[in-house]
Parts: sequence; structure tokens; C-alpha cells
Amino acid sequence: MGEINISNLTKRFGDVTAVDDFDIDIEDGEFLVLVGPSGCGKSTTLRCIAGLESPSEGNIYFDGDDVTYRVPQNRDVAMVFQDYALYPHMTVHDNMKFGLEEEPDYTDEERDARVEEVADLLDISELLDRKPTELSGGQQQRVALGRAIVRDPAVFLMDEPLSNLDAKLRATMRTELQQLQEDLGVTTVYVTHDQTGAMTMSDRMAVMDGGELQQVGEPLELYHEPANLFVAEFLGEPNMNHVAGEIDGERFVSEEFTYEFDADILDAVGDTGDVVFGVRPESIEIREEHASSPGPHEFEMTVDVVEPMGNEHVVHLDFGRERSMDDSLIGIADGMRRIEEGDTVTVHLPIDAVHVFDAETGEALHNRRVDFSEKSEDGTSTARV
Ligand code: ATP
Repeated sequence: MGEINISNLTKRFGDVTAVDDFDIDIEDGEFLVLVGPSGCGKSTTLRCIAGLESPSEGNIYFDGDDVTYRVPQNRDVAMVFQDYALYPHMTVHDNMKFGLEEEPDYTDEERDARVEEVADLLDISELLDRKPTELSGGQQQRVALGRAIVRDPAVFLMDEPLSNLDAKLRATMRTELQQLQEDLGVTTVYVTHDQTGAMTMSDRMAVMDGGELQQVGEPLELYHEPANLFVAEFLGEPNMNHVAGEIDGERFVSEEFTYEFDADILDAVGDTGDVVFGVRPESIEIREEHASSPGPHEFEMTVDVVEPMGNEHVVHLDFGRERSMDDSLIGIADGMRRIEEGDTVTVHLPIDAVHVFDAETGEALHNRRVDFSEKSEDGTSTARV
């Protein structure tokens, strides 16, 4: 049992509103990632769920019980932080056993057995007699996880638990953690500023900015159907291209280019005049052949910079002949393709991949066309884009 409901949560520190009227319902067994830039209020939200901070307003419920002002020890949560906080003078075994210190229902033998069971699960059985200083960062992280898991809590709360690890180990641990969470089925709230990590691990992501919840949903839903420009730009690397302009009749007009919208998009845009045109780099088609008469969504562009990544090239494209950051778009080309700075190419911006945002509010007026309805044989949804 580990359902969490947060209602109108607000937390102020003096003049700073760290969390602003935050609402969310987290299902039992769900892996929810709270993600957003530094200072957006993720950790404060997590600390309120843990009972380490008292909300200024609002309520937190665990399985329907109001726990808003309940002390952490009485919430049945286990926390894992970026700082592993292992006791240096204790062995791995004792560090993990310490997680059970406040569990009166266990005998000492049962505590030892539980530690061994979890150590086996985390593949650290052979490290049980070592001290934390004799472990690598990844191993220390496993022990910190182990100390949380031994308690068999209703909820795991994790704050950037992998950020002290190098990139490769972090990626491996992400997969392991995701697998582990799935096996244990324990509701998990995981805080990170790393959008890639958030997308790959979570059942759902909650994106925050300035203390406010911007959007919550499945990773691909947020990626393809962002509620606003902030979410659109926060998710995805390289960032979504965005160009400010206005609607003139049936066209989007910016300083750099003019683009014909179809009836669907025009309908969604309504009478909004100033808009932002968005398209993700991977949606841009960089055509090798030089079109003698480009179509309505095709443009002649100059290759400004090519960043070879191996599997792909990140290609900076300019509308003008002069170098200018203002009129450039970023596209992705296959890594085996020969593409060079100074090349003139035909660039297709497919209408199905276009996003349109209200320039004033940032709200998404139209998102790219995606069919989330397709189910694969194992029953999981796949996005057809
Ligand atoms: P990061 O990713 O950098 O950890 P975050 O998204 O977790 O950031 P919080 O730590 O929740 O953000 O902080 C949100 C805001 O609240 C920030 O402006 C921060 O300075 C402020 N804040 C957090 N804790 C306190 C505190 N104890 N006293 C005063 N201000 C605080």
C-alpha cells in the first residue's frame, strides 16, 4: 500500500515560495520522477512528502490518511539521498542493518537474514564485511539503496541518488534501479534535474518550474505533447527549435521564414496573433538533393556547424548566408552521412511535426501529430510519430 495524494501543497521560506499550490495523485507502485531545473522546488516537495519539512499550506495523504504533520518515522518511507550518508566506522552489513534499527518487529537474527537477502538482491553479498571507504561510488550507492530496501517501506523517496556517479555507471544504475523498483513494486518518488534519466526511468514524470507543477504524464506524452514551451524545451537534447513570429492569414511568418499552416493548426491557433513555431531536431529532414523548386514546407538552408556524435551529426542550419544564431535551426543527420559546413541543403519541416505555442503565455496551442493508441503485442503503448 503506497498511494500518495498531494493537495494544494505550498511551502514558503520567508519571501521565497519554493512550492506553489502543487497537486498530484501518485498510484500505489508507481515510479514518479519529479524533474525540473535547479531551484524549481523538487527537493522541497520531496522533503514535505518525507516529513522533513512542514508545508505552509496544503495536505499530504498516504493511502487516504492525512500525514501532513506526521513525523518521518511514522510515515513508513525510506529515503536515499545524493549523499549516501553511510557510517564510515560500520561495515556494509551493519550500515544496512542500521536501516532496521527502528523496526521492533524483527529479532536480531531476522535482521541479519534480511540484510543478507537484500545484499543478494543488490549483488553486494561479497562486500558485507567491508567498510564504506573500501567501496567504489557505485558500490556505496548500492549499500545506501540496500539500507532503504531492508526496511520494506511503503514508499521510497530518492533525491538525486545517482548524481555522484560517472555517466556510464549512472546509466547502468538507472536501469538497475528501474528494474528493482518494478520487482519490488514499491511506490517511488525520485527527484532529478536530469531530464534524460527522468524519461528513461519513470512511469510518469512531473515537470516543475518556479515551484509550480507544469505537467504530469508519461514520458513520451510529455515529450510529444508538451503543455507549454517550458516543458517542450526542458525535455529533449538538443532542445526543440523554436522561432517567434506571427500568424498572417494562413501562414506563420517570422523574420527568417514563412510556413503554410493547414486548417487543423489554424483552428487550434484561433485568433492568437503572436506565436512560437516549434519543431524537434530529429523531425527536421535534411535532404541531400538540391530541390530546384522547394515545396511549401521546404527551405534552402546553409550548413553552419556540424557536430559529429558518431551515430549522428548535430547539424546547425542557417536560413541566411551570414552566420547568425537568430536564424538557425538544429537538425539531426545520420552519422554515416557526409555533410559539411558551408553545404547548401534543402530542409523539410514536416507539418505533422510542428508545434505552435502562444508567444505570450507559452501555452501549447497545437502539438505534433502522434498516435498513442497503438498497442504492441505485450500490451504496452507505443507512439507512432
Ligand atoms: P536543486 O536541483 O538545485 O536541488 P530543487 O529544485 O530541489 O533544486 P529546492 O531545493 O526545493 O529546489 O529549492 C526551491 C527554492 O527554495 C530555492 O529557491 C531555494 O533556494 C529555496 N529553499 C530551499 N530550502 C530552503 C531553506 N531551508 N531556506 C530558505 N530557502 C530555501
